[in-house]
Amino acid sequence: MTIAPILAAPAPAGTPLDDARAQLTEAAQFLGLSDGLHRLLATPRREVTVSIPLRRDDGSQDLFIGHRVQHNFSRGPAKGGIRYAPNVDLDEVRALAMWMTWKCALLDVPYGGAKGGVRIDPRNYSANELERVTRRFTSEILPVIGPEQDIPAPDIGTDEKTMAWMMDTYSVARGHTVLGVVTGKPIALGGSLGRATSTSRGVVDVALAALASRGLPIASSTTAAVQGFGKVGRGAARFLADAGLTVTAVSDQYGGLVSTGGIDIPALERHVDLTGSVVGFEGADPLDGAELLELDVDLLVPAAVEGVLTAENAPCVQAKVVVEGANGPTTPEADSIMRENDILVVPDILANAGGVVVSYFEWVQANQAYWWTEAEVEARLKERMIGAWEQVSRYAGSKGLTLRTAATALAVERVAEAHTLRGLYP
Ligand code: GLU
Repeated sequence: MTIAPILAAPAPAGTPLDDARAQLTEAAQFLGLSDGLHRLLATPRREVTVSIPLRRDDGSQDLFIGHRVQHNFSRGPAKGGIRYAPNVDLDEVRALAMWMTWKCALLDVPYGGAKGGVRIDPRNYSANELERVTRRFTSEILPVIGPEQDIPAPDIGTDEKTMAWMMDTYSVARGHTVLGVVTGKPIALGGSLGRATSTSRGVVDVALAALASRGLPIASSTTAAVQGFGKVGRGAARFLADAGLTVTAVSDQYGGLVSTGGIDIPALERHVDLTGSVVGFEGADPLDGAELLELDVDLLVPAAVEGVLTAENAPCVQAKVVVEGANGPTTPEADSIMRENDILVVPDILANAGGVVVSYFEWVQANQAYWWTEAEVEARLKERMIGAWEQVSRYAGSKGLTLRTAATALAVERVAEAHTLRGLYP
């Protein structure tokens, strides 16, 4: 395996919002959208910024800033995760909310798009402190969320416990249990079977289809590298290995691992459960996290954060197929470089949509108070993911577009149609 050199200093990148707006502009130009509609879709419909005071376990007081951005409601209630991370800012949340709108429209789930975030490093706070932050944040955004208004879900730094606290806080305020206010809940509280693995399963369904479209066999001769070993990357690595691929590299925020013969993913998962990181796993060699993106592999799955594939490292990407498990991992400059290098990039709004698809299934099940089997959830998820992949690749092929522009254009067209049919009021 050859490891390309990493370039020294990353150049200043635009914000995720710049990236999201550039992608929208490309789709809007292709569709011939009017300026008025383009501006409407480039701008969130509603933004709520709140302060969240916290009484710490030691009696001292702390303060955090939180946001909920609702980008669009044209096709239904707003939908999207809540992120707890130290670098959360309003522009990032705006970009993530816009991507949710396109993702929901592309997969034809009847939602608009939203996102929330609290600027906090959850690793530095106890479970009790995180519960108080979550309940206070929920109380502050309570007027704008609800099963018919805006439905939060987990994202980076939040999980099913966070969703249980949000659901309970909302329900206490309403005076009765409202299961449909959030998705990604624990199974015992009206969550859906298959939700926890849904994003990873969707990533792998689409990755296998993308590899096949490039003539790469679903076999051990096909190699993969996965950046991120959390809610998305960990399952993606496991399902890629289950499908018979050789996963030669993985990384998390603390470091990476490489092994040309392939990493034993179940053994690595046991190590991560014990230690909290991939670092120190004995079945592979240590790897600098940034180098993972430039390895000589067939498939690269960035499944961590935004803006990791940039103008600087994109020329060094050797993968033939890139499948975006994270939201916004590729800047527009990196996108054009990879297009010139004939790398197939499967965009986030398609590749990682499995999470919100099963969120939709969870909301449907909760609203009907009737739950499906795991096999039913997985079969319906796969059908939607493969259906969307086929639609996007057919559209891209017939119009001469990249998969990203095709996916964004299909989604924007659906949102624009819904908006136009409803009409501008007043
Ligand atoms: N946070 C996930 C995403 O970015 C899931 C959102 C949801 O289920 O609403 O797609």
